[in-house]
Amino acid sequence: MTNFQSYENLIDGRSQPAMDGETIDVIDPATGEQFANIPRSKTADVASAVESSERAYRQVWQKTSATDRGRILHRFSDLILQHQQELAAQECRDTGKPMKQALADMVTCARYFEYYGGAADKLHGETIPFVSGTTVLAVRVPHGVTGHIVPWNYPGQIFARSVAAALAAGNTCVVKPAEDACLTPLHFAKLALEAGLPAGVLNIVCGLGREAGAALAAHPSIAHLSFTGSTSTGAAVAEAAARRHAPVTLELGGKSPQIVFADADLDQAIPVILNAIVQNAGQTCAAGSRVLIERSAYDKVMSLLAARFAALKVGPGREDNDVGPLINRVQQQKVQRLIDEAVGDGIQLVAQGQLVPNASRQGCFVLPTLLGGVFPDHSIAREEVFGPVLVALTFDSEEEAIELANGTEYGLTAAVWTRDGGRQLRMAHAIDAGQVFINNYGAAGGVELPFGGMKKSGYGREKGIEGLVAFTTVKTIVLKHG
Ligand code: NDP
Repeated sequence: MTNFQSYENLIDGRSQPAMDGETIDVIDPATGEQFANIPRSKTADVASAVESSERAYRQVWQKTSATDRGRILHRFSDLILQHQQELAAQECRDTGKPMKQALADMVTCARYFEYYGGAADKLHGETIPFVSGTTVLAVRVPHGVTGHIVPWNYPGQIFARSVAAALAAGNTCVVKPAEDACLTPLHFAKLALEAGLPAGVLNIVCGLGREAGAALAAHPSIAHLSFTGSTSTGAAVAEAAARRHAPVTLELGGKSPQIVFADADLDQAIPVILNAIVQNAGQTCAAGSRVLIERSAYDKVMSLLAARFAALKVGPGREDNDVGPLINRVQQQKVQRLIDEAVGDGIQLVAQGQLVPNASRQGCFVLPTLLGGVFPDHSIAREEVFGPVLVALTFDSEEEAIELANGTEYGLTAAVWTRDGGRQLRMAHAIDAGQVFINNYGAAGGVELPFGGMKKSGYGREKGIEGLVAFTTVKTIVLKHG
């Protein structure tokens, strides 16, 4: 075991172990080695973090001007950029993602704090014409103490997108990162203190979802919850919040289609379609996990994709291979089982990437896999795999493409590849998804672009100004002055 480290929660500006001293092992998914541990926090630890955030809200953050909040977030953004190498190396080891990806993630994290820092003092309310002799103000106010339940696939980015917006709007935050990916959020919270964020405004409590996560979701003082993760846990979190009538933003899974018409520019489309499924080893809510291809172009598109899949190198993220390991053994086994079952059911295995020779046998690797001739009603065509698995289906008409695109329970993102301008817009309007890209794709889009799901992909929007407004509610003030 090299450089073993024990991490602690960050509550009220201080590092603290779990009250009962229990810990959780942190495993490097590329090697299977334990290299650290984190606190296994319980209800009492969560309660202490929420109390600290309540105090910080009433005593400090509520009284901090929007301009000053923005300035602190800008300093925080600068510190993330200054520390991007060490942050990326930490995220790479903790999650297995390639260094290049981890570095890009850190730059995006800094951008969230820059974007929302700049927006903090531009969040205006309204005046409303009402009866003569009155003035009506609709003022935007923060919720108070907000809870953030963050998954393991983009621990930095998903932390940044909800925490930056919440802080900019004047809320305080208690974050429960995933047990498999706590290190970047803990590091961020220390940088936030260095940037001048007052103690208690941002608290981090590590632990298991069913313990610390459930305690946060159920805590009566949490006025708003942001959750990203699975549909089933999302439902449990929303149920806990509903018992005390707290609003929730749910960002859940997807089975996002890449729809390729025969007139598409394939030189442009193919590398983007590949990246949309292999980025982060396919562990992306907005991964482009289905490619729907017009029948006349099927053979050509598949041979181009197959060549790219076969060339992919799979191995440790720190060596910047194309595809790193999955987050843990459970995910690896789940994804491998779904591939094996599909092939066992007669679905064609068209191409797979290759494991590099020095990859550890204990690593949680899954070869990126292209499956062809997939039946639309097979589970691999409908359910989220959350791994580097692309399923290909064919269609004969625009109507059939729409039917297939909308034929799952999800509705997160989609891409349409065609040169026909009328079809581009018809498709964009007809597809059930929170984001539709035409002749391009960016899983989950940019920091500025509202993002969120339809159907089982969730509700509420993050990113962009929509994401900021979501962290406020409206207070109407009616003045009678004659
Ligand atoms: P979960 O939805 O269970 O985990 C997401 C977050 O919720 C984690 O922080 C987790 O903590 C926490 N959590 C778990 N149980 C509870 C609970 N009862 N109350 C409150 N919080 C809880 O996802 P998994 O990690 O189990 O992954 C399973 C599947 O979910 C994946 O295969 C994928 O399909 C999907 N997923 C989707 C993501 C997305 O971006 N939309 C992200 C991650 C997963 P902890 O990790 O400590 O249990």
